[in-house]
Amino acid sequence: MPGFELFGDAERREVQDVLGTGVLMRYGFDGMRHGHWKAKSMEQGLAQRFGVKHVQLLSSGTAAVSVALAAAGIGTGDEVILPTFTFVASFEAVLMLGAFPVLVEIDETLTLDPEAVRQAITPSTKAIMPVHMCGSMADLNAMQSICKEHDLILIEDACQAIGGTYNGKALGSIGDLGCFSFDYVKTITCGEGGAVLTNNEQYYLNADHYSDHGHDHIGSDRGAETHPFLGYNFRISELNAAVGLAQLRRLDEFLHIQKRNYTILRAAISKIPEVVFRRVPEGGEESYAFLNFFLPDLETARRVSNGFKENGIDGCFHYFDNNWHYVRRWEHLKEGKSLNQLSETIRQGLAKIKDKQYPQSDNIIGRNLSCLIKLAWTEEEVHSRAKKMVSVITDVL
Ligand SMILES: *Cc1c(COP(=O)(O)O)cnc(C)c1O
Repeated sequence: MPGFELFGDAERREVQDVLGTGVLMRYGFDGMRHGHWKAKSMEQGLAQRFGVKHVQLLSSGTAAVSVALAAAGIGTGDEVILPTFTFVASFEAVLMLGAFPVLVEIDETLTLDPEAVRQAITPSTKAIMPVHMCGSMADLNAMQSICKEHDLILIEDACQAIGGTYNGKALGSIGDLGCFSFDYVKTITCGEGGAVLTNNEQYYLNADHYSDHGHDHIGSDRGAETHPFLGYNFRISELNAAVGLAQLRRLDEFLHIQKRNYTILRAAISKIPEVVFRRVPEGGEESYAFLNFFLPDLETARRVSNGFKENGIDGCFHYFDNNWHYVRRWEHLKEGKSLNQLSETIRQGLAKIKDKQYPQSDNIIGRNLSCLIKLAWTEEEVHSRAKKMVSVITDVL
């Protein structure tokens, strides 16, 4: 996945343009910039590559999720449905807006179980946020029909699945709003960065204003702009955008390498009858950022995970025992540990999450290993890695 592995001259040249003019900000200073608009160019490039009308580039993926929620008007008293298996940023963003994250069970797609989503809907539900974890997607047909039935907003967190598709459309471009991250370890990186994608002009204008103190961005005198509503600062700098612009041009090259490496590893491991791969919804194609598979039970998965570590096979995660991505170890969330006072509704809701059991997700995450696909591996290295992985798994079984 990480685009930083192939950081090179193309990225340096783009950054050099910005250093040459000294205009490090994405807005204004038209005369000084000698035609260099890195953030704007990246937004146009993303819109074209992903087939959406509007893109707002932001300072991070977490900012993207927060801004997407805000753009859709989600806030205090609202509930957002998301999976138990996600990066912490997804619930952080919901909480930051004063809304409540309702965590629901996942299925073998490693993302939202449509039946669990249906059961979690209440009169306060405003949005469903599938998180396309580890390179593949939720059943988006099912999510779209649930949203239609209940008049809900669909927000895709596609931060880990850039380049994946569903029925021929890019992940991130299918919901009412979609989010990407360009942090340092994502498929393409800005160093730090993120983006909101949408075909809805109002949501786009909301995102554009909200991420820059409510500025309307009309005219060329920043000081004279009006503020139709309150906003904050989630702007990306031109330096970060310059790196991302170069990386975006290389996205298809990166995806090609990911797929090649993934395919070699998968072919080798699929010879082991006990191994089952993550389910990809019909019509979906993964981004190949990770190879995800299930072992027969928790104990086997733990032993294989340890075996990988002992044999120098890095980048394979057993999320059941991991602090970042799975509800089981999110003590800070369950205990509501916050620097500032949380609202009464949120405190009560978090207390419920603390007592709640997620047996289906435990079973799935307990048996799952997710192996990061790197870009810098040579074909030889991938083959030798495949051999080692097969031998560790076979030994444990
Ligand atoms: C990386 C990531 C984010 C947040 O992105 P940052 O740019 O690191 O803030 C959000 N959601 C998911 C699923 C991610 O993997």
